[in-house]
Amino acid sequence: MSNTNTPGNREKMAVALDAFLTSPPKGLPAEVIEAFGRTVRTDDGILPPRVFLEAVEQSAVAISISNTSAQILYVNQAFEKLTGYQSDEVVGENQSILSYKVTPIEVYKNLWKQLLEQNSWNGVLVNKRKDGERYLADLTVAPVIDDGGQTSYYLALHRDVTEMHELEQQVRNQKVLIESVVDAAPVVMVLLNKDGNVILDNHAYKKLMADVRGVEPANIFLESLSDVINFDKQLSCDQRQDFYNREISFKNEKGVENRWFNCSGVWVDEKKFTADDYFSNNEDCCLLLVANDITQQKRQQNQIKTNALRALMAEQQLVHGMRETLSGAIYQLQAPLNMASAVVGMMERRQKNSEHNPFQTALFDVIHSGEKVLESLQQSLPVETQESIGPVNMNEVIKDVIDLTIHRLLEKSVLVDWSPATELPSISGRCYALRTLFKQVLDNAIDAIDEPGCSRREIAITTSSSDHDIEIVVRDTGPGIATNKRHSVFEPFYSEWQHVKGRPGMGLTITMEIVQQHNGTIEIDPHYTSGCSVIIRLPITPPDPVNREELS
Ligand code: FAD
Repeated sequence: MSNTNTPGNREKMAVALDAFLTSPPKGLPAEVIEAFGRTVRTDDGILPPRVFLEAVEQSAVAISISNTSAQILYVNQAFEKLTGYQSDEVVGENQSILSYKVTPIEVYKNLWKQLLEQNSWNGVLVNKRKDGERYLADLTVAPVIDDGGQTSYYLALHRDVTEMHELEQQVRNQKVLIESVVDAAPVVMVLLNKDGNVILDNHAYKKLMADVRGVEPANIFLESLSDVINFDKQLSCDQRQDFYNREISFKNEKGVENRWFNCSGVWVDEKKFTADDYFSNNEDCCLLLVANDITQQKRQQNQIKTNALRALMAEQQLVHGMRETLSGAIYQLQAPLNMASAVVGMMERRQKNSEHNPFQTALFDVIHSGEKVLESLQQSLPVETQESIGPVNMNEVIKDVIDLTIHRLLEKSVLVDWSPATELPSISGRCYALRTLFKQVLDNAIDAIDEPGCSRREIAITTSSSDHDIEIVVRDTGPGIATNKRHSVFEPFYSEWQHVKGRPGMGLTITMEIVQQHNGTIEIDPHYTSGCSVIIRLPITPPDPVNREELS
């Protein structure tokens, strides 16, 4: 590359500049020629002034030079093209020839204030072309300051931004429209980028966020989805796997489900718009989550389920009650019959062979008819339907029973502290039997609290699990069970209730029976002294084949 800044070159340039200045292009104002002369001289005269002129002439931006009264001295070709005015039509005119008079006066005042302070000004004005058509001009005006510090010219550059403004407005209008529609939708909507950050959300989403006290609901959705459908965001994004109508739930601080949503997700591709991506087809994928709050329906379903369970349990309790009463009657009748048989035996041993004893005959008759009664009582014992064994989640069973008992708990003003294990393995067992078991234990706890002298009315229920079994603990604030009676309470017809009358005392016996059928244990915690604490342990693994047969 040759060096143009040599003494010889500088001399040639000076000659060329002089030639340009003495014979400038036709129509170029004297002030502009003078300005070029000054500009080029200060620049060592390396570039000929025609190059500067060409740069201005060929510029795609409309350029004009005016004096300090805004009288136009020079315009370039782009100005002519944009405004429709030829150079000779506007030179000598005020720049206001372009004004459409709808631009607020404050805008001009501000423009002139800045110029008078020798600052540049940039802003948008409504201009009109020669043919009267309006356009938006993005105008920059800069003062040209002479050696004495005075403003000698104003240099203006402007371009038509009408189309860009229209596009911007259209985008803004569409954004407002889309946001209004999305906001008005009664479903939760949120758009997440690939990192899981929210880039668009609607009113329902914001309301949900307030309901869950500032926790990002999107995170809860994604966590629940990974539980329900093993949702892996990255994998799902790579394969653009949409999903529809997945039921997920939100849990409260205690891990209890309290809100339900029907959730769908659609992957949306968004074209990247940075300068780096101008020539590429790079896309970002975003996940549009749409969730419909189905809590109300879910509660109704639960209510229906609870009512059905209540009816079923009432029927089972009736059967149990009848069995208990009849068993009690059989038990009560058995004792005198045994006694009568013993007496007859004694009589037989004492009397002589030929002697006829009328008492003995009468006792025979009594025993005979007693046995007949016993037999008919045995036959009238209602048969309990056996259910099949299946996986049972005790958290759900306990929750069902609490729901079933809620009226009684409210009526007795008993506070229940329900702390289920967050993840409780299912056990293999009979759901209805286990429900009966827990109902009995809970009923007992309520009865205990209802006994005279109970100041605190609370029941704490917890579940936990180890490798082999699950543990359910039910603690009440009732009078508790004396150490010497902790085994008797599981015996048939044992009852110490003072308030609860007419119960045959078979509840814990049945409970024990059900626990044993499931290879589990039930005990009264000897270390708990603030009431009664019942601990039930049930094995996770299914009962062995022998017991399985026994169960069925
Ligand atoms: P004007 O009376 O001309 O101006 C309105 C207000 O501007 C006045 O009340 C006053 O406060 C202030 N003002 C005007 N002239 C001067 C001045 N010489 N000194 C101090 N304050 C003054 N306007 C456009 O509409 N479109 C353009 O493209 C445009 N380009 C311009 C380019 C340059 C280089 C300059 C210097 C100005 C340009 N203007 C342009 C502004 C233009 O000169 C007018 O000020 C404007 O058009 C308003 O015109 P008007 O006749 O309605 O009111």
